[in-house]
Amino acid sequence: MPTTSFAPPDVQQLIETRRDLHAHPELAFEETRTSSIVTERLRALGLTPKTGVGRTGVLALVDGGRPGKTVLLRADMDALPIQEENEAPYRSQAAGKMHACGHDCHTSILLAVAKPLAAQAGTLPGRVKLCFQPAEEVGGGAQSMINDGALRDPKPDAAFGLHVWQELDLGKVGVTVGPMLAAVDGFTVTVTGRGTHAAAPHLGIDPVVCMAHMITALQTISSREADPLQAVVVSVTQLEAGSAFNILPPAATMKGTVRVFDPRLWEELPGRFERIVQGIAQAFRGTAVIKYDRHNGPTINDPKMAAIARAAAEEVVGAANVVDDVRTMGGEDFSAFLLEVPGCFIAIGSRNAARGLVHGHHHPRFDVDESCLEIGAEVLLRTAQKFLST
Ligand SMILES: [Zn+2]
Ligand SMILES: [Zn+2]
Repeated sequence: MPTTSFAPPDVQQLIETRRDLHAHPELAFEETRTSSIVTERLRALGLTPKTGVGRTGVLALVDGGRPGKTVLLRADMDALPIQEENEAPYRSQAAGKMHACGHDCHTSILLAVAKPLAAQAGTLPGRVKLCFQPAEEVGGGAQSMINDGALRDPKPDAAFGLHVWQELDLGKVGVTVGPMLAAVDGFTVTVTGRGTHAAAPHLGIDPVVCMAHMITALQTISSREADPLQAVVVSVTQLEAGSAFNILPPAATMKGTVRVFDPRLWEELPGRFERIVQGIAQAFRGTAVIKYDRHNGPTINDPKMAAIARAAAEEVVGAANVVDDVRTMGGEDFSAFLLEVPGCFIAIGSRNAARGLVHGHHHPRFDVDESCLEIGAEVLLRTAQKFLST
């Protein structure tokens, strides 16, 4: 099947869009300005976007003139509750809000990809579903779009998304086969004992010592229960108990997170967690109440889809600049799409040490080298084109 060759993305407009979105960040499920800009721009391209999908999300279909498959391209739109410390002219104008993860880049990249796709839809084999997603940072945005039908009428045969990647130098693209980002679970455990004078522990039931044992024992989920070749992280991050140095409190609470790549191990995590916590609570005569939440599943790239993304990336940055080992125990709710359809999440190098653009995601001085925008748009456009043409 002949491939459609698209006009290159409009780089100047791409950067202008990114700077405008960067200056006007909106938090999860509040992306009303952003989604109206997206809607307006898609309408100007002759598309008929559907708004309010998953609350503030936008969906649009580029229907090709020839029959074929359907590919979903996804960009997230939300910002973070962080006060920006950069001095750039396009810095955040909203106090306490900032595009510190680069979702402004993703939204502008997908808009830049929409333009040539819509312009040459007549020669496109198949359909491209453009998905502008809210609320990635708090989780739930992807799932709320799926619940509102993002994967129906038509159901995509594949899904691709990208993230600007500050651990990768500008000019590099990361295409990882298999697990790339971890499943993210969160927990709250409250242990109740019986308060007493600190000098007379035998008259009460100490929830603090009980919880200390839990914290230590929970580490065995990764060190003793999982295959040493599997990546598992258990982090207890918040503790709360007591009111004075000489009183043993009646209760103690801890919060934290468990992260894992392997889907089977992920399935087993709540059971393992509960067995350890309840076993220790019982051993120490306390009672434990567990709240265990699934934030997102593991982001696992399909090998065939990763090969398509890699071929596209090689055309844009050269084979030597495509790396295959971008992995982190951070989470990403694009996983919700990848649990339903095969696809690939692509990392676009955005770091430029020579220009001081080295701060990581979620840092108040996070900023990207904007040359990554064109690379991202080219890679995404060519990935979609290759998927539909093969
Ligand atoms: Zn983020
Ligand atoms: Zn992000």
